[in-house]
Amino acid sequence: MFENLQDKLNTAFRTLKGKDRISDINVAATTKEVRRALVDADVNFKVAKDITDRIKDKAIDRKILISVEPGQMFVKIVQEELTELMGGKAESINIKGDPAVVLIAGLQGSGKTTFSGKLASMLKKQGRSVLLTACDVYRPAAIEQLKVLGEQIGVEVYAEPDNKNAVDIATNAMAYARKMGKKIVIVDTAGRLAVDEVMMQEVADIKAAVKPTEILFVVDSMTGQDAVNTAKTFNERLNFDGVVLTKLDGDARGGAALSIRQVVEKPIKFISTGEKMEALDAFYPDRMASRILGMGDVVSLVERAQQAFDEDEAKRINAKMRQNKFDFDDFLGQLQQIKKMGNVKDLIGMIPGMGSAMKDLDIDNDSFKPIEAIIQSMTKAERETPELIDGSRKKRIANGSGTSIQQVNNLIKQFDEMRRMMKKMNTMQAPAAMKKALR
Ligand code: GDP
Repeated sequence: MFENLQDKLNTAFRTLKGKDRISDINVAATTKEVRRALVDADVNFKVAKDITDRIKDKAIDRKILISVEPGQMFVKIVQEELTELMGGKAESINIKGDPAVVLIAGLQGSGKTTFSGKLASMLKKQGRSVLLTACDVYRPAAIEQLKVLGEQIGVEVYAEPDNKNAVDIATNAMAYARKMGKKIVIVDTAGRLAVDEVMMQEVADIKAAVKPTEILFVVDSMTGQDAVNTAKTFNERLNFDGVVLTKLDGDARGGAALSIRQVVEKPIKFISTGEKMEALDAFYPDRMASRILGMGDVVSLVERAQQAFDEDEAKRINAKMRQNKFDFDDFLGQLQQIKKMGNVKDLIGMIPGMGSAMKDLDIDNDSFKPIEAIIQSMTKAERETPELIDGSRKKRIANGSGTSIQQVNNLIKQFDEMRRMMKKMNTMQAPAAMKKALR
């Protein structure tokens, strides 16, 4: 999902790569590219303009942390704004009532029946007693489809195949649910290929008859800007509570997800990413934003860095690196900072593209232990001037730290390499340099 948007945004961010400051000029160029990418992905132009204006202001205002690359900081700002655009926090559905009634509305083929089944299945797994109700009286196959789904997930389906009055069916389903002690009734309604008055009136009548606790509007995300317009029409008539975006598995553009919330001012509550009953997720704006940005979870990584890194310490280390005076004490200090950021394996998983590649590797914070022990077994003079460490000192350090001479040699070698590297690119940040050296 969102592949095209992802590619374009990545291209946009490339202008900031390797820069050590965010300047007005590169921010303007990057936000322009971001805006173009959003519009290409079907995001409403005004929405795209508003969000990129905010991104620009934030990027210029924000103090750039010395330990975070400007490119990453910019991506984080875009992520925050996309999250806000999609509603900020996740919103649940109201299933309080006796029974609670969830009314499902939308155009034909949008995925209402499939979603009704998925929602029923999800609620059943939470231990709730659910009744599905087939109110699509125009498409005989619709009743059958819901029955098949119901059987598959083990949820009872209420239907009256010979009754053509959807309002009656819904009302009867309510009485049946009360009699059977069902706690949630999901009402799947009829849709037409396009918005039409008869259909709208029927859904409105069902709404009046069953007084839903939650009305969900289901929309096919592949329909792009039309999805936004359909949402508007349904909302004017039904004043729905939430949106279900379907077929996100097939949509490389995904602009509907970004504009719908802004345009109808109703939250997206679920996303559907396939035909299988399991392919339903609650909608989390922040996770979706990360997904759109193809970020792994750089956001959490930056947040943790913000929490863990001490600006003054980072500046001090930077200065030492520039003077090529980075020593084993600094190395130890940096290790401690990385550890403060959390579990090393988690951190690696947040690096885009690394998560899946590294997930089976056995790395934990203990990996640092021998390194720390070796450094701690050095004298102050040895830490400051590693050149002092000759054969007999190595032996003493290995003994003192419970490691082998080979481990001591390896660390000193890596440290030397790291210092050489720092000399070459003395603007590089210490943690990044260390990660490289530790590989
Ligand atoms: P309704 O007319 O609104 O009830 O729509 P249906 O539930 O019958 O769905 C229409 C078609 O879209 C069916 O073939 C579904 O299997 C398919 N469908 C529904 N949701 C999704 C989804 O999230 N992804 C994909 N790929 N197909 C879906």
